[in-house]
Amino acid sequence: MLEVITQPVTPFAQNSNLLVCQTTRQAVIIDPGGDVEKLMQVIESANCKLIAILLTHGHLDHVGGAEQLAQHCNIDIVGPHLGDKFWLDALPKQSEMFNFPMAEVFSPAKWLEEGEQFTFGELTLEVRFTPGHTPGHVIFVEHSTKRIFVGDVLFKGSVGRTDFPGGNAAQLKQSIESKIYSLPDDYTVFPGHGPTTTVGYEKQTNPFTSGRFG
Ligand SMILES: [Zn+2]
Ligand SMILES: [Zn+2]
Repeated sequence: MLEVITQPVTPFAQNSNLLVCQTTRQAVIIDPGGDVEKLMQVIESANCKLIAILLTHGHLDHVGGAEQLAQHCNIDIVGPHLGDKFWLDALPKQSEMFNFPMAEVFSPAKWLEEGEQFTFGELTLEVRFTPGHTPGHVIFVEHSTKRIFVGDVLFKGSVGRTDFPGGNAAQLKQSIESKIYSLPDDYTVFPGHGPTTTVGYEKQTNPFTSGRFG
């Protein structure tokens, strides 16, 4: 089974999710955006072995703590898709813009592609490529426990902004419909900000894709 521990980090209250395989205690962390010392405490009290850092996209509030955590734990950073390299290359500028602690440029050990799988313990995450909020955004689907980790693609009652460089509203809509709404209604959605929701609830009520707001 999968245990998910959500820790909001940074002034943007970005949800950093620690995913622990309850059988083996192997774990991965998705989007350690900052507050690395806090995250280290969460990891320690979960009594798990962190094996990798996974990234949904290259925005600072999602990746700002990745390099420090990777060095501290001696593990790899995996993802996002190569399309977000320009965001990672711009990390010092992003830090300046948002008045965050200076984040250095880094390159993940591996970029991710649609359809790849990442296994930890007895659990497997399926990678889906979901451009729109950023051109290299990916999400992670854990089918055996029906959970998806969607970064800034979809929120409870809302969707990701598309007014940043490389954003594309039509592409975002397409990503949501083909990569998230194609999943069964009872899958739980873990967004990068705010509360969890389900695929069915968003399909029925999300104003963006039901067209109420055009
Ligand atoms: Zn973002
Ligand atoms: Zn975000």
